[in-house]
Amino acid sequence: MTTVDETPATQPVVIIGTGLAGYTVARELRKLDSTVPIVMLTQDDGCFYSKPMLSNALAMKKEARDLASFDATAMAAQLRADIRVHQRVERIVPGEHQVIVNGDSLHYSKLVLATGADVRRLRVDGDAEAEIRSINDLSDYAGFRAALAGCKSVAILGAGLIGCEFANDLIAAGFAVLLIDPATTPLARLLPPFAGEVFANALSESGISLYLGRSVSSIERQLNGYRLVLSGGEQIHADLVVSAVGLVPRTTLAANAGLTIEYGIWTDAWCRTSNEDIYALGDCAAIMGRVQPYVLPIMHAARALARTLSGNPSCVEFPVMPVTVKTPATPAVVVSPDTEGQWLVDLAAHAGRNAARAVCRHADNGRPIGFALVGAATEGKAALLKEMASGAG
Ligand SMILES: Cc1cc2nc3c(=O)[nH]c(=O)nc-3n(C[C@H](O)[C@H](O)[C@H](O)COP(=O)(O)OP(=O)(O)OC[C@H]3O[C@@H](n4cnc5c(N)ncnc54)[C@H](O)[C@@H]3O)c2cc1C
Repeated sequence: MTTVDETPATQPVVIIGTGLAGYTVARELRKLDSTVPIVMLTQDDGCFYSKPMLSNALAMKKEARDLASFDATAMAAQLRADIRVHQRVERIVPGEHQVIVNGDSLHYSKLVLATGADVRRLRVDGDAEAEIRSINDLSDYAGFRAALAGCKSVAILGAGLIGCEFANDLIAAGFAVLLIDPATTPLARLLPPFAGEVFANALSESGISLYLGRSVSSIERQLNGYRLVLSGGEQIHADLVVSAVGLVPRTTLAANAGLTIEYGIWTDAWCRTSNEDIYALGDCAAIMGRVQPYVLPIMHAARALARTLSGNPSCVEFPVMPVTVKTPATPAVVVSPDTEGQWLVDLAAHAGRNAARAVCRHADNGRPIGFALVGAATEGKAALLKEMASGAG
């Protein structure tokens, strides 16, 4: 092993990961400190792209290259950072303030873990498990686009946010879509059952075939495409199978370095892990014990962390952050309550066809603590957010 010798004064802030989390911290830090050396390490090509666009790019006929707004060279110039691509960090040695890459060690003053999440793999019987696709980065999207050539139908496993968005995008792009989920309504983790039923109805009317309340027992390769056997014994056919059954924070590097893992890489409200010079944010992190794999929490965490790294310790304060489901045929907006409350459907269907409005209120004081809006009822988002911000009952 060789050691890159750096005197303490020049030891950089090292950021592992060039996704939204890594790049946003770097950008915010550079605004606050024009001289601190920043080194970014990534196992991918370092292109800056909008990951949320992966699930609505098809209908817009966008190729993977259209989604990449800047390559690593352009990002390095913008951020005045040393960006090292195709470099997989193998190990962190916290006691020596070093990360190990390709057998070499690199010193850091502060280390930021922005390593994202891996897709959850579904275990099914049959000979085609390895051919199930998932789309979690730009190269997955490029492979998905190529695999779609000649396909007419796509089965999507998982009717959560990402599964529903891909279903919407594929149907809009002219494919037959089969959406399968063991839950009895789509977006079951986000929408209360009533709103989920309305959402399901709208998906169905857009042409998506729903197989809810059923899991996939086996997937077998056929001459053309795949045969899927569902839990009730029903058999369906699709030319391509996409899994969207969730993400698992990438915690191995942190765990091997002895950092506390609790759902994700545990951090306090300052994004600081159980080691005082190592921070984490984004899909890999559980800030104050909570993983929030969405754009808005990442932006808030990145701004606070940049202030901390520039010498002004700042804790992350998350405002109310609605999650917007990108299903133009049937839009949905959700604020998930973070405490127990009572869901009240205070307007159904009146706001238009396939519309639902459900508000979760605090059991004691009636304050709104969450909401789920579907279809035309999404127009009520701003008023509800205002009510939540003002704490009005
Ligand atoms: C299809 C899809 C649609 C989405 N839509 C929405 C949406 O509409 N709204 C919303 O709010 N959120 C959405 N999200 C979630 C949002 O995009 C993510 O929360 C966010 O992009 C995660 O950013 P990240 O930087 O934490 O992780 P990533 O973008 O995954 O970046 C991780 C980085 O870590 C690097 N890395 C990992 N391990 C190592 C290692 N050992 N060595 C070196 N580098 C390493 C990788 O190369 C990569 O650069 C969507 C996600 C997906 C997949």
